[in-house]
Amino acid sequence: MIGLLAAGPFGLQARAAEGWRIAVIGAGMAGLAAARALQQAGAEVTIYEARDRIGGRVWTDRSWPDLPVDMGASWIHGLTGNPLTALAREAEAALHPTDYESAAAFGGGSERPYPAEPWDMLETAQKRAWKAEEDLSLRAAVEALPRWAKMTTAEREAFRAAVHRMVEHEYGADWGALSAWSYDEAEAYGGGDALFPHGYDQLARHAAQGLDIRLDARVQVVQATRDGVRLTFADGTQAEADAMVCTLPLGVLQSGDVTFDPPLAPARAEAIASLGMGLLNKCWLRFDAPPPVPTADWILNLGPPADLWPEWVNPSAAAPAPLLLAFNAGPRAEEVEAWDDATTLVSAHDALKGMFGTRFPAPIAAKVTRWRADPLVYGAYSYHAVGSGADTRRALAGLDWDGRLAFAGEAASPDHPSTVHGAWLSGLAAAEALIG
Ligand SMILES: Cc1cc2nc3c(=O)[nH]c(=O)nc-3n(C[C@H](O)[C@H](O)[C@H](O)COP(=O)(O)OP(=O)(O)OC[C@H]3O[C@@H](n4cnc5c(N)ncnc54)[C@H](O)[C@@H]3O)c2cc1C
Repeated sequence: MIGLLAAGPFGLQARAAEGWRIAVIGAGMAGLAAARALQQAGAEVTIYEARDRIGGRVWTDRSWPDLPVDMGASWIHGLTGNPLTALAREAEAALHPTDYESAAAFGGGSERPYPAEPWDMLETAQKRAWKAEEDLSLRAAVEALPRWAKMTTAEREAFRAAVHRMVEHEYGADWGALSAWSYDEAEAYGGGDALFPHGYDQLARHAAQGLDIRLDARVQVVQATRDGVRLTFADGTQAEADAMVCTLPLGVLQSGDVTFDPPLAPARAEAIASLGMGLLNKCWLRFDAPPPVPTADWILNLGPPADLWPEWVNPSAAAPAPLLLAFNAGPRAEEVEAWDDATTLVSAHDALKGMFGTRFPAPIAAKVTRWRADPLVYGAYSYHAVGSGADTRRALAGLDWDGRLAFAGEAASPDHPSTVHGAWLSGLAAAEALIG
């Protein structure tokens, strides 16, 4: 094992967990981080993963052999001080920086001025909302502003489109569901963002080295025994351990697909119920020649419509073949997720024609994600629904069952939710809580 963890803030004593058998549910980044830390501390660790691969929402599709594409996470958000930057260096994974300032906006077949951002008004709405007795939705907070009342229909539509692009796409949820008090409560690293031209899964594969991972092991029941925990899998087999780290995604915890016996502590159960599970879906489009788009990293589609395929990324500079990436989020993503691949591809191509003209070449192939339908996550990542916030995540994280069941995963990261680094840090925190 390498000294990455020992050097970090969660470094555990080398023999602190010697003699412990620990089960970790889930081989996403939270599970891998927890398992690494616990194994380093001397525990005998086994990861049980329902899929036939590791990485969870870090998933590089390699079915185009010359062109790996990330179907889940793409970016390291904030390279400075981010534990994933060190992990990427260890894994010798190439990074390709992208810049939000490198952006262009198109609509109605031509380039448009970059649209106004909504932050000013959202900040005013949030400050007002903080003075209220109870949390309310971001939408309700904005619509209560005197300034909203004075806006024309066109101004409201432009503002709404900006909120969709910049807020709903970030959190994967409708502004009517997001908490006005805490929708943006999170910390961020500086140093800009970066993509993995050869796939984010390099990090997962590197982190998994030397770990005992059982694939195709779908946990259905987790029980406390007299002196430990017992897992029952979908095929009826069982495994026992002294303690356990649970990194089941929020959507799976909310679904009730996995039974906890005895039930979880009421505060934890309430936290699970009150956070939201958002949706962001991706569509990768492959072309036989470089598509006629600007070299900017980000391309905004102002529509009409403004809320379908509003965000595009041009990773061509780093990709070995011509490629574009488009997103849908929130309710629009739910709608598009129900379409078949052919309909989705036509719609994405229509959006390109709307931005750049009707002669825009058709993609030769596409890859489409459907994260809501995935029964091992039921969504993309968690968000602060009305009434929830960082404290809700604190209530989800940590120990249950007298200290033998620890929770981790992006939803359990109070400071860096909804990210890969948040998942990683939560895994390290869970390991420390279990042994500490
Ligand atoms: C489309 C999309 C884009 C994203 N973009 C970014 C980005 O650019 N940057 C960023 O930082 N973050 C991004 N994220 C978020 C990031 O991917 C996640 O926050 C992070 O990967 C979550 O890690 P985790 O370990 O908490 O959960 P997961 O990776 O989901 O791991 C949980 C594991 O548990 C397994 N599991 C589920 N049920 C069972 C069961 N019953 N038994 C056993 N195992 C089970 C799952 O298969 C999974 O492997 C994105 C996510 C999506 C979906």
